Amino acid sequence: MRWYKTDLHVHTVLSPCSGLEMSPRSLMGKAKTEGIEIIAVTDHNSMANCLVYEKAAQEFDIAFIYGVEVQSAEEIHIVALFDDWKEGLEFNRELFDSLLPIKNDPAYHGNQVVLDEKENIVRTIKKSLINSSIWTLETVMHKVREFNGFAFPAHVDVTPYSLLGQLGFIPPDLNITAVGITAECDEKALLEKYPILHDLVLIRNSDAHSLQDVGSGYTEFYLEETNLKSIVNAINNKNNVRIK
Ligand SMILES: [Zn+2]
Ligand SMILES: [Zn+2]
Repeated sequence: MRWYKTDLHVHTVLSPCSGLEMSPRSLMGKAKTEGIEIIAVTDHNSMANCLVYEKAAQEFDIAFIYGVEVQSAEEIHIVALFDDWKEGLEFNRELFDSLLPIKNDPAYHGNQVVLDEKENIVRTIKKSLINSSIWTLETVMHKVREFNGFAFPAHVDVTPYSLLGQLGFIPPDLNITAVGITAECDEKALLEKYPILHDLVLIRNSDAHSLQDVGSGYTEFYLEETNLKSIVNAINNKNNVRIK
């Protein structure tokens, strides 16, 4: 076993607020430069670009975890991760159907771009991905577990679209074991403000929407294998996670 440097919350060109500079090879090249060894790609409400970015990660010898950043009915962002692509894909299908039927406005948000392995644009997603699912936080947590994934509320240290920003507390009955924090988060101040977080694991990620931010926030896990199962084991044994 050894420590691995991870960034488990990164956006691709699919996310409306991301630039086309976040192409698979550019993104993974930057992650490699930053020493990231395990990465999860987590676009807003869609896993449509996962396989293409996984291929690029393999080229750079970076372990890849399938992910998505779900926006719940309460407008809370939740990172959902999966080891198994088939289960992730099934989750993704149900998630897409659960999104409110609002069209993306490319002039305002930019295009929601799906790429092929040669980095050609194969299609754009018309339904707005910057939008809520009808699933509540509770439903999201249950759905992710139903498909053998792992979920944690994203960027709880910022107000918009975060669990603590929207609800102000951690619902005790949802078995939340970890929360995401931003690259800039002062974790000591956060723990002072919300002592309940002492019982949870903080996972720092970049939440990068542009190349320069990839790897700017990271977490190290002490792992047996470079997969989600091992990361969840490390989270359950808090000593095996460090954010500095
Ligand atoms: Zn978010
Ligand atoms: Zn994000």
